[in-house]
Amino acid sequence: MSRIVIAIGGNAILNPARGSPVEQQRLIDETCREIAQIIRKGYDVVLTHGNGPQIGNILAMQEECALVHPQPLDVCGAQTQGMLGYSLQQSLDNRLRESGITKQVATVLTQVVVDASSSSFTNPTKPIGIYYPESRALEMIALGIKMIHDKKGYRRVVPSPMPLQLVEEDVIKKLVSLGVIVIAAGGGGIPVIRKNGSLAGVEAVIDKDLTGSLLASAIGAETFLILTDVEKAALNYGKDNQVDLDEITVSEAERYIEEGHFGKGSMEPKILAVLRFIKSGGKTSIISSLDKALPALLGTAGTRIIA
Ligand code: ADP
Ligand code: MG
Repeated sequence: MSRIVIAIGGNAILNPARGSPVEQQRLIDETCREIAQIIRKGYDVVLTHGNGPQIGNILAMQEECALVHPQPLDVCGAQTQGMLGYSLQQSLDNRLRESGITKQVATVLTQVVVDASSSSFTNPTKPIGIYYPESRALEMIALGIKMIHDKKGYRRVVPSPMPLQLVEEDVIKKLVSLGVIVIAAGGGGIPVIRKNGSLAGVEAVIDKDLTGSLLASAIGAETFLILTDVEKAALNYGKDNQVDLDEITVSEAERYIEEGHFGKGSMEPKILAVLRFIKSGGKTSIISSLDKALPALLGTAGTRIIA
């Protein structure tokens, strides 16, 4: 049976500025309808998801509530695995029952070992969460919280080290071989390091596209499908001469990255992740939109990256 890892974008299901939980659930339901069709075709599916806006909301809630101690970032990441795992697990279960499929769905709380020597720990650059008014941002900086200032205002920045290994890899593989549809490594995984043989959580986030490719390689998936809010990766994105890409080779993708065609925190990590998957032996990788998961797999939607 062919294995596929499907990564669902955190921003794609929740607009950071306008998205409501109801809207997020509607998009999850639509996406799960597509995924149920893929399962019906006979694929063994493992799902993963992002958590950018969702973890940002948890941080904002913590900052607004002085009555309780704030939780560290690894714990906030675990919370997003729980809440999105729940939504996806229930929605997919419902869509499978509608299609007469009796497979089971399970979310695995997943820790991911990160590179402890990463320079991002001393020099964090990954912006997360909401924009803060200047007066609030200056208070946060005085408390030792790292912030950056861009065109739209102040944002918190945190370390985003490379993912190295999925701690729960074996149990994920066992569940897949039992025919369970697994949701794993949500939000790129809970970031941990190994210290004297023990695991310990760290204050960081992990790129879900990179962890998705690690997950796809680890379970021996043939296909790595990334679902986001655009149907195709494009050259000259957002300009008059935009060219949507149907199929590109690894070397073309590398050239386009060098030429700066892909957004730094958005499309570029997806392209880097699919390159990593293909280079470690993966067969097919596709970037497509949430509503076109099945057509992407059938070759009539999305951007396909080939060796
Ligand atoms: P996700 O939550 O799915 O990871 P992101 O916002 O991180 O979503 O990435 C998807 C976004 O990437 C799109 O909404 C689009 O605005 C942006 N993007 C940047 N560069 C490109 C490009 N070259 N082609 C297509 N989309 C791009
Ligand atoms: Mg993203």
